[in-house]
Amino acid sequence: MRPNRRNFLKTSFAAGALLSIPAAAGPRTGQKAAVEKLDAAAQLPVLKKELFNAPVIIQSLELLHHEGNYLLRAKSRDGVVGYSVSNNAHMQYLYPILQQKVMPFFIGKDARDLDELIEGVYVNDSNYKLQGLAFWVCVATVEFALLDVLGHIAGKPIGALIGKIEHPQIAVYRANNYRGRTAEDSIKWIKRNVEETGAKAVKFKIGGRMSNNADNPPGRSEKLIPLVRETFGDEMVIYADSNGSYTVDKAIEIGRMLEKYRIDFYEEPVPFDWLEETKMVADALDIPIAGGEQESSMHRFRWMIANDCLQIVQPDIFYFGGMIRSMRVARMAQIAGIPCTPHISGSGLGYLYMLHFVSAVVNAGPYHEFKGVSSDIPIACDSSSLRSEGGIVTVPTGAGLGVTLDPGFIEKHVKV
Ligand SMILES: [Mg+2]
Repeated sequence: MRPNRRNFLKTSFAAGALLSIPAAAGPRTGQKAAVEKLDAAAQLPVLKKELFNAPVIIQSLELLHHEGNYLLRAKSRDGVVGYSVSNNAHMQYLYPILQQKVMPFFIGKDARDLDELIEGVYVNDSNYKLQGLAFWVCVATVEFALLDVLGHIAGKPIGALIGKIEHPQIAVYRANNYRGRTAEDSIKWIKRNVEETGAKAVKFKIGGRMSNNADNPPGRSEKLIPLVRETFGDEMVIYADSNGSYTVDKAIEIGRMLEKYRIDFYEEPVPFDWLEETKMVADALDIPIAGGEQESSMHRFRWMIANDCLQIVQPDIFYFGGMIRSMRVARMAQIAGIPCTPHISGSGLGYLYMLHFVSAVVNAGPYHEFKGVSSDIPIACDSSSLRSEGGIVTVPTGAGLGVTLDPGFIEKHVKV
């Protein structure tokens, strides 16, 4: 690992987290050993089974729909009910996979075996052939509903089921996407977003998204990079996301510019599955490279961590198949001494799942993506305003998801 990057990492964990990270050797000190250590970390149990002293048999899973919202209702044999709100943007066309390939596997099984069930559903009925967002969003939808059930039984929030609550409050950054606007126009909108949340960090988009170097409009990124630093000043933590816009040469050129303006990380410099090219960019630059939001494979994450390809891992807790799998990635990253900053997608209650997950991640990054609370789903929460107050959001402490879905809203849903 490059020395400057190591300096960055020293300051890049959420407050208090660094102390609990073992003094791991960098991944380049011996890849074979590193891989074994990464595997060992990834294979540790995640769900705290010891919280449950009796079986939690999954009696039913029902998919419900109302005006574009998909709810999954899970019921245990003892009558405990839990809900998840799916990733609605994708579930509208994925539900046959959920209903035919995922839900039946869980019926009659013990939810305390969730670690094994998540592995099991992947190989069952050759489901591994479907690996990708389309499959894992379905698994995550089931997992979140079962974690809600388990949380209600244990009387604990989801974070306490998958780890120790390390971060009861989460500092957020506001992500935004103003591609297509000029640099000057983009900065006005980015400023407005930052003012809304009071965040001390911001992420902005550069390049043209999987565009083979075509900017949108041309020349926008080169203008915007200095403008963002100038606008927000030296104290602001600033992240840049290219969404796979560049080829290696251009990615390095833009990366040098990001370094010049002290941008704090550089996300998906080249297309997400160009693993060797991502590593070439990482090797050429000092700025930490972030990525992993499109990744669906545990082994590819392991490769990227072992090879110092990424210096910040960003599993998407829906696209990667839930919190248990994402926790395994976070633990591998912890061994390599790098932070985990999960990606979230905007629809539904994504922000809420992010809060619970991050609350239990030892090596959580200092700021997490917040796209604002969606008003489409009426929920009540007495332990958190669920809003960003001075750039901080409080994680709900109630059982399971820690919020109550409006019963009238649930009633409007019909079985799919
Ligand atoms: Mg991104």
